[in-house]
Amino acid sequence: MQFGHLCIGEKILLMKKHNFSAGPCILPQEVFQEASKAILDFNDTGLSILEISHRSKDFVDVMDEARNLALELLGLEGQGYKALFLQGGASTQFLMTAYNLLQTKAGYINTGTWSDKAIKEAKLFGEVIEVASSKDANYNYIPKGFELPDGLDYLHLTSNNTIFGTQIKHFPVVDCPLICDMSSDIFSRKLDFSKFDMIYAGAQKNMGPAGTTLVVIREDILGKVTRAIPSMLDYSEHIGKGSMFNTPAVYAVYVTMLTLRWLKAKGGVTAIEEINDRKARLLYSEIDLNPLFKGFAAKEDRSNMNATFSLADGDLKETFDAMWKEAGINGLNGHRSVGGYRASMYNAMDIEGVGTLVDLMSELERKA
Ligand SMILES: *Cc1c(COP(=O)(O)O)cnc(C)c1O
Repeated sequence: MQFGHLCIGEKILLMKKHNFSAGPCILPQEVFQEASKAILDFNDTGLSILEISHRSKDFVDVMDEARNLALELLGLEGQGYKALFLQGGASTQFLMTAYNLLQTKAGYINTGTWSDKAIKEAKLFGEVIEVASSKDANYNYIPKGFELPDGLDYLHLTSNNTIFGTQIKHFPVVDCPLICDMSSDIFSRKLDFSKFDMIYAGAQKNMGPAGTTLVVIREDILGKVTRAIPSMLDYSEHIGKGSMFNTPAVYAVYVTMLTLRWLKAKGGVTAIEEINDRKARLLYSEIDLNPLFKGFAAKEDRSNMNATFSLADGDLKETFDAMWKEAGINGLNGHRSVGGYRASMYNAMDIEGVGTLVDLMSELERKA
């Protein structure tokens, strides 16, 4: 099978693979088209988006629209939250959260590799209490029913565990600030986002290309630590400068803005959640009904974004791998710490893509 692109006049027709990669992720075709036009001529300025000044009105408008769309799609406008597009990935947020907010002790729920990394960074700044962990079962479930110690500066959670394929469905009610790494399920479902005091997400999982990280933070939780904070790591500094303290990741913010526009036009998180639920039901029911496959994560904690599963019989691996590669599927191999397969079904993955995978799984059953 051939994949490539055809240019017909102005229109670029992409003949795409079904991209199940965990990140950088699939983005909507419309976004790729719009974003490639902007490389050649952005907003009819006669300049490429890659060369315009980040202080130009055209780009300041992009940054403002991206920040406003983020708050609007989360239902957080006018409630004391600020949206920022920072650099350094979600990994820099592991340390920035603690730098800005950890004075004495903070609680962390350890649900996987990413939480574990956040814990490691936070320990540089204060006492870290691992309130609950699912490390005992290679993170295949979400710990529940834990007791929170008193006097925490904040509680940190990871809403979706990209590697292990688990997702928090019910968030704890707490009396301290609640911080959540939503890198791999931001804008994928409807939640009461006002329960969180801070949300962060690397763009490249479900929101845009690599290079920028969304931070949504309630301003009133800042300014409580006594340590001095370097400007580039200080949320207040970035808020004061409208996310333009230094040169932002211009193109990454632009493509993220286009993706958020696309999501809004589709009906926002409520509409996309319905599609995401359908995709996840389609794949998980195949995993459960097809005797050749088994799921990794505990059923009640299964992620709607990243489905982890494996073949019950390893001898079929070569056959199955050849089948999905032939069908134009990309990025299905599991993370090395879980093995097997991982199908990432982010917002831009359509139900037909998931259908292609499910059809191959049942075809394998018929063949075997
Ligand atoms: C990928 C990922 C990260 C790390 O993101 P970077 O932008 O690469 O630093 C953190 N948290 C979660 C949940 C992730 O999936």
